[in-house]
Amino acid sequence: MSFTSFKTKIEEGDFVMAYLSRTHIKPIIVKKGEKLNTRFGTFPHDSMIGLPYGSQLMTPKGRGFIYLLHPTPELWTMSLPHRTQIVYTPDSSYIVQRMGVIPGSRVIEAGTGSGSFTHAFVRTIAPTGKLFTYEFHKERYEQAVSEFKEHKLQEYLICTNRDVCADGFDIDGTKIDAEAVFLDLPSPWEAIPHLKSVITHETEARICCFSPCVEQVLKTVTALQENGWTKIEMTEVSSLLWESRKVMIRELDDAIKRLKDVKKRQLEGIEYMKQMAVKYGSNKQAKVHKPRSKNRDRGFNPFGKGFHIIEGDENYKWFDVSKEQKEIKTHTSYLTFAIHVPQLVVNDENIEKQETDTEK
Ligand code: SAM
Repeated sequence: MSFTSFKTKIEEGDFVMAYLSRTHIKPIIVKKGEKLNTRFGTFPHDSMIGLPYGSQLMTPKGRGFIYLLHPTPELWTMSLPHRTQIVYTPDSSYIVQRMGVIPGSRVIEAGTGSGSFTHAFVRTIAPTGKLFTYEFHKERYEQAVSEFKEHKLQEYLICTNRDVCADGFDIDGTKIDAEAVFLDLPSPWEAIPHLKSVITHETEARICCFSPCVEQVLKTVTALQENGWTKIEMTEVSSLLWESRKVMIRELDDAIKRLKDVKKRQLEGIEYMKQMAVKYGSNKQAKVHKPRSKNRDRGFNPFGKGFHIIEGDENYKWFDVSKEQKEIKTHTSYLTFAIHVPQLVVNDENIEKQETDTEK
């Protein structure tokens, strides 16, 4: 198991994302004899060993089920223990493609924080690339290092406990040559002047600074301009979830049946009020709710009331619809992108040599 490759069967010691619901995913390491306790009941780890990733697992008493999913950076982002604010998938996926990060890329990230983006970067750059990630908070750095070890990411990254604004990014004896830089720091403009010695000067280098306020963006833009970065652009990702589901087809007969039912219940109600008025001599006293009949037809009603039908039930007709989330998610951060183009070293000697070569 790993975040950088895929396997089909779950073995002891493997990482499994136990998916209970869209908002509840429990990451576990499978160990013989251990148990996963959930609101649906208890799932012995032994029952997971040998199953293919993606399996649905019922509680022994059949009270509910979970899915056993393969770890991915996206699922990790949804379930990780938060030590800081994190970068979510709509932003990280856009940043990775916009900076052109691919397998083999050399990338700088600061700060490491909760390691959410670290997992996404590593999955993309593996197996031949390298991520240089920096975190100045000692405890957070130690937690990140132990998590990366547990997730078998350490061969793809170097995590350094460092204040990059004060001490820069250089690591003794290590050639960094980064093609991409991601800064998720309160003051990226203080780190930008230190980048010159660690970015590649062979090809273009790209940067993205992640800042929630426009005031931070303005300071970052100034620092980028002063330090030779060009093509500066600011973007904001506003993601909208689209849901796909099945909606039951309601026939004309269903509508007629429903109207007849409404009419029937109205007439019964009027009759009941009349009887009460006769009994008590006043309409006012009769204004009590008619008691519900226990023998009422509680069969399926395609307009909502009645017994519940599971979506997609083959006994009914359905059509597929897609629906967008009602409200767009609130602002996360502004993404400031820029490019550093290597300087061509042109001196008089080179020009003279070129001219003589052409004359020949
Ligand atoms: N991108 C991370 C993620 O997706 O999990 C979250 C980063 S968090 C918002 C910012 C982190 O930067 C914090 O953990 C903080 O300690 C660290 N940090 C702030 N200033 C720093 C500096 N000058 N050098 C290194 N790390 C710094």
